Amino acid sequence: MEINTFCPECENGLFLHEMPNAGLIPCTRCSKGREALGNGGLDAQGALARCGICGCTELYRQKDFNTKLGMWIVVLIVALALIFNQYLFQILVGGAVVDGILYFALGDIVICYQCRAIYRGLPIAAKVKGFDLKIHDQYEFKNKKTEKTKEPS
Ligand SMILES: [Zn+2]
Ligand SMILES: [Zn+2]
Repeated sequence: MEINTFCPECENGLFLHEMPNAGLIPCTRCSKGREALGNGGLDAQGALARCGICGCTELYRQKDFNTKLGMWIVVLIVALALIFNQYLFQILVGGAVVDGILYFALGDIVICYQCRAIYRGLPIAAKVKGFDLKIHDQYEFKNKKTEKTKEPS
């Protein structure tokens, strides 16, 4: 498993290979880091049930789409289309097919609504659905409120 989160101080990416224990996940860029609750949990199938960083149980799934790879494919298709412009239509169709294959070949990742940690390489529970803006907004509102109370008045 791989967990991707970020440092709330400097937004540096933090990578973990197992569920964190309670305490600070140190940041390599600044001297701070992200505080983990360390109460993450997996269900009987080994799927993520509770986020190990914030303890949230509301999660969503998303395609693990590598944007860099996607960008290079588009560049390649455009370059091919410019070089072999008599086959423009075939190249564009071929590009769309490659895109489609990639989309289905990519695995899913699970993301925590509350702290936006990304979990890779775990089975995904059937109840974990795609992104829901309503749930997201609830957490956004909650996060904003806690941020405000943290600010010195
Ligand atoms: Zn940092
Ligand atoms: Zn979380």
